[in-house]
Amino acid sequence: MIVEPCSLTIAEARELLDRRELSAVELTRSCLDRIAAHDGRLNAFITVCREAALAQAAEADARMVGGAGGPLCGIPLALKDIFLTRGVRTTCASRILDGFVPPFDATVVAKLRAAGAVFLSKANLDEFAMGSSTENSAFGPTRNPYDLDRVAGGSSGGSAAAVAANQCLGALGTDTGGSIREPASFCGVVGIKPTYSRVSRYGVIAYASSLDQVGPFARTVRDCAVLLQAIAGVDPRDATCAARPVPDYAGALTGEIKGLRIGVPREYFIEGMAPAVDGAVRAALRQFEALGGRLEEVSLPHTEYAVATYYVLATAEASANLARYDGIRYGLRVAADNNIELYERTRGAGFGAEVKRRIMLGTFALSAGYYDAYYLKAQKVRTLIRRDFARAFERCDVIATPVAPTTAFAIGEKIADPLQMYLSDIFTISVNLAGLPGISVPCGYDDRGLPIGLQLIGAPFAEETILRAADAYERSGATVRRPPII
Ligand code: GLN
Repeated sequence: MIVEPCSLTIAEARELLDRRELSAVELTRSCLDRIAAHDGRLNAFITVCREAALAQAAEADARMVGGAGGPLCGIPLALKDIFLTRGVRTTCASRILDGFVPPFDATVVAKLRAAGAVFLSKANLDEFAMGSSTENSAFGPTRNPYDLDRVAGGSSGGSAAAVAANQCLGALGTDTGGSIREPASFCGVVGIKPTYSRVSRYGVIAYASSLDQVGPFARTVRDCAVLLQAIAGVDPRDATCAARPVPDYAGALTGEIKGLRIGVPREYFIEGMAPAVDGAVRAALRQFEALGGRLEEVSLPHTEYAVATYYVLATAEASANLARYDGIRYGLRVAADNNIELYERTRGAGFGAEVKRRIMLGTFALSAGYYDAYYLKAQKVRTLIRRDFARAFERCDVIATPVAPTTAFAIGEKIADPLQMYLSDIFTISVNLAGLPGISVPCGYDDRGLPIGLQLIGAPFAEETILRAADAYERSGATVRRPPII
C-alpha cells in the first residue's frame, strides 16, 4: 500500500525530508489535496492558506538544502483560529471579528514560523473557545472524522479533527477547561495542555486569562513532545509566562516507567460514565501495571465543585476580556447614531448565544453585592482544588483518569442544554483550576468505533513525566490507532 505523505507522523516525515525522499512542497500538497477532498464535509477549517502554505514549503525546502532545517522545518500544521497570524484573517469563530486581519503573529506562531513550519490553515473552534463541541462556531460545526453525525469535541475541535483526518501533521489549540484534551479524546489523537505559564499567550485571543493555556495536537506522543519543545519557554511579551528553562521533552521519552506511581482518584470513576469509557480506562491502568507502574488510590475530595467553580471564574474573566469587542477597534461595526447604541448593536449582532450567556453570567458574578457570594467564593474553592492535587502528588507521580465521561456525542444532542454540555468537562476542568499539565492519549474505541482518551495529569512543570508515561503506554501497543472513516 502506498502511504500518502499527509498520513505520516511528524517523526516519519522528518526522516523522509532529511533523506530528500520527500519534499516539503510534496508533503504540503498532499495535505492540501486531502483538505480539498474532505473538508467540505468535515469543516475542520475556517480559512485554508493554500498559496501561502506552498510558498512556505518551498522556502523550507530551500532551507533544508542549505542544511539549516530543524525538527519542524517543512512540517505542515494547522492553527486554531484563536492565534493571531500576520496578514491572515483571524476570526475566533465569531462574527464580531469580521474582517479582522492581525498586524502581527502570536509568539507561538512566530516561533513555529522561525522553525520553518508550514501553516496550512486556521482551524474551526467554538466561538471564543466557549464550548465542548465546536457547535458554537459562527462557521458551522466541525464533524467527527470517525462519525460525521457526531461532534469533534471542543473548543479546539477543528484542530483535533484535522489531525485525526490526516489533513495536517500536527496542530495548535488552547485549553481553558479541557479544549485540547476533550477533542483529542473524541478524535483519537494526542493532545497536551501544558502547565499554566509554560507557553506564551501573547497574540492568543483571551477567554479566561487565569486558565488559558496553549498546547499541541499530533498523532503520536513523540510528535506532541516535539511541537511543545518548539513553543514552550519564556516570552518577554507575556508577563505570565514562566522563565524556567525548557527541558528536552523528546529526550524524556525513554519508554521506561518502572516504579512510576500512578494515582487513581476515586472521584473520577463515577456513576453515569459510559461503560466503554470506564472499561477502556481500567484496561489502560492494568497496562500501566504490566509496564512496571504502581497504582495508588488517591482522593481529590473537592472534585464535585469543579464545574461550578470553573463556570463562575471563567465567565467572570470572559466578561472582562470580551469588553474590548466594541465595534470601534476591531472587526464588525454596526452603524448607529451614538456610541452606546453602536456598542449595543455591534455586540448584539456580533456575538453568538453562548458568548452572550457567558458575558451575562460573568458580569452578574462580578457585580456589587454578588462578588463575595460568587467570585470570591469560587476563588476559595479553587484553592481547595489546587490543594487536593498537591496532596495527591505527595503519593504519586502522575494521576490517571478518563478525559470525558462519554465518547463523541451526536451533533445537536447537547446544544440546547448548556448544563449537559458543561458536564462534558467534568474530568478536565480541575486541571486548569490547579494550573497543572494534562495529556490525552488514545486508549481504545467504543462499540461504534468512536475513540476513547486516557488523561494523565502531572505536577506543575512535570510535562516530561506525563509525556514519558503516555509514550510508554502508546509504544506498548495496547491501543492500535484505527484510521478514521474519511
Ligand atoms: N468547555 C469549556 C468551556 O466551554 C472549556 C473550553 C476551553 O477549554 N476553552 O468553557
